[in-house]
Parts: sequence; structure tokens; C-alpha cells
Amino acid sequence: MASAPVKYLDLQSQFQDPCLWDVVRSELESTQFILGPKVETFEENFADYCQCEYAIGVNSGTDALFIALKAVGVGVGDEVITVPNSFIATAGAIVATGARPLFVDVAMDYNMDVSLIEAAITPRTKAILPVHLTGNPSDMPAIMAIAKKHGLSVIEDAAQSVGASINDQRVGAFGDMGCFSLHPLKNLNGCGDGGMITTNSKSLCEEVKLLRNHGLKNRDEIACFGFNSRLDSIQAAVANYTLSKLESIISKRIKLATLYDSLLKGASEYITIPSRLPHVRQVYHTYVIRVKNRSGLIAYLTNHQIETKIHYPIPIHLQGPALQFGHVRGDFPECEVQAKEIISLPIHQQLSEEDVSYIATTIRGFYGL
Ligand SMILES: *Cc1c(COP(=O)(O)O)cnc(C)c1O
Repeated sequence: MASAPVKYLDLQSQFQDPCLWDVVRSELESTQFILGPKVETFEENFADYCQCEYAIGVNSGTDALFIALKAVGVGVGDEVITVPNSFIATAGAIVATGARPLFVDVAMDYNMDVSLIEAAITPRTKAILPVHLTGNPSDMPAIMAIAKKHGLSVIEDAAQSVGASINDQRVGAFGDMGCFSLHPLKNLNGCGDGGMITTNSKSLCEEVKLLRNHGLKNRDEIACFGFNSRLDSIQAAVANYTLSKLESIISKRIKLATLYDSLLKGASEYITIPSRLPHVRQVYHTYVIRVKNRSGLIAYLTNHQIETKIHYPIPIHLQGPALQFGHVRGDFPECEVQAKEIISLPIHQQLSEEDVSYIATTIRGFYGL
């Protein structure tokens, strides 16, 4: 049996890789820190990986969302349909454009309940912003059909799901644009902030490239007022190196998740594991299950030196600053129940199968199984 403690994350061992030090050293030597050649190399490789025509590097996943929304023309007075159970940046980016997030509840897989979208659409609705939470793609074929029928743009929040796919089509390639994060905690991580936008539209690609760089069309002249949101070259170089490892990172995570699934199933009275669909590839940024007596379980796991997290304990519509949208407890019941029952177990790629067995055995022990 594995040795405790089991930490939720282990960036230390990932970033001890001497190859990464060489990658950073060569960027320092080049001094091409702002939109240097490595940014373009990484953009090309990332676009290929996501099976998209274009990929554009920006400052963060949050900026990717904000700039993508700006590029499709979302602004003051508009509404954007999204979910209340994401990381706060999803709704934050919508609010930053001056638009209003229109939340729809989630389904048992923690993603947008597509059967609720059409009822939420109003004449002011401009876009749908689904989140592929935990690394599990939202039902993009259904969302694209609704968007087409109502003339809405679609921006995918793929910050947790690089490499996930539906019928072998990668996320970020379904909507008008896909938004990704290179935050150190994500599956494809840099050593600081970074983000990517994918698209198959040449004009959206050009618009995003203007917006991320002050609107500059040449050294001295702008085409529009923009922002400073460039992916810096060191992060591009680190992420480009990590991209070469991404498939093995994902395979490891899928292997660990499959093991968790098999060790925890059959305890359904206490533990609910989301169903897995054969045509969907999940990449397990997080491994999230629902449990009874969550606080008791967390305390028990902590005593056994197993670290866990909750993504996310407070639904966005119940955050203080969201009160301006007039929501009350009970508006999104499935999301609210899930917020009380979900727990994220360790699933990083440095974890061993023995670690997972230890965690699963400890959980079963808590429930007397
Ligand atoms: C991490 C994350 C973001 C924000 O990405 P940053 O790079 O941290 O700005 C947005 N949406 C979701 C779902 C995320 O998990």
C-alpha cells in the first residue's frame, strides 16, 4: 500500500525536469521576451493539437474569455448564457465586458444542462459560454445546434479540458472560439499565467491579435483600442515543452480515473460517480465525485494524510457581488445540491496507482464498505 501523505498536487517534481531549465535558459539568452518566435511556434503547435486553424496566445485563461467575448462583439446591454458552477473567471469575464451572465443550471455530469438553454434565451442574448468542467466536454453538438437556430455566438471555456474530445473532435474546435488556460494548476501548465484562444475563423483570429496588443496594426498605428494581453515568450516556451508531454499526462490521468471509478463503484448509496460516455474523452483536470457526509469524509481523509479540494463550494449566483443579478438560493437547485456534495480527489500525473488504491480504500473504510 502507498505511503501517506498524498498531496493534492505535486508541481515540485514536474518542474524539477532539467529539460525545462534548458528551455527557460534559452529564452533568457534570446531576450525576445515579448511576442518572440517561441510564441508563434507554440501557437502553431497548439492549433495543430486542438485541430483548429488558428491559436493565439494571451495573458491568461481569464483574458482569453474576455478577449473572445469582445471579439464576437459582446458588450454593455448584452447577455451571455453560462453556468453557475464554474471557476469565478467565467462569469467575471462576462461582467468585465459590461454584459450580464445568464445562468442555466447544470446536469448530473456537472456541465450545462442543454435542455434548459432555449428557455433562457432573450432578445438581448448574444452568446453561449459553456464550460467543460473537470476536463469533461459539454454537449457541444447540442449547444451548436441551439446557437445556430438562434443566431448566437459560442465561446467554449476549455480552461480545464485541453485535449478532451467528442467523437475525436477536440474541444475548442466546436464553437466560434475556444479559451484555454496555462495556469500552473492546469493539465497543460506554464510556470506563471498564460492563456490561449483557438478559432477556425481568420477574421476572429485577426481581431484577437489586434485586441491582445493594444489594437496595433503596425508599430505606430492602431485599428482599434485594445489591451495588453500577450502570452510572454518564457511561458510559451515552457508550455510548448509541456505540450510534447501532454498526451502522456492525459493518459496517466485517464488511467488513474478509471482505477478510481472501478474501486469506488458499488458504493452508490454514499458515493455518486458521473456516468462516462464512450464517445467522449475526458481529461480529468479534476476527479470529482459526490459523497454523503462530505465534511466527515474530508476530516477522515485529512487524518489519513490525504489532501482533497472542493471545486467549487460557493455557486457563482450566490457570491456577494452576484446579488446585483437578483438571484436567490433555490434558483439553480442541481448546482446548489452539487456544491454541497462534490469533492475533488487527487489525480495529478505524479500520483501512482498505489496512491489511488490507498485513497479509495480509505474512502471505503470511512463508509464501512
Ligand atoms: C482556470 C480557469 C479559468 C481562468 O484561467 P486563468 O488562466 O487562471 O485566468 C477560467 N475558467 C475555468 C473553468 C478555469 O478552470
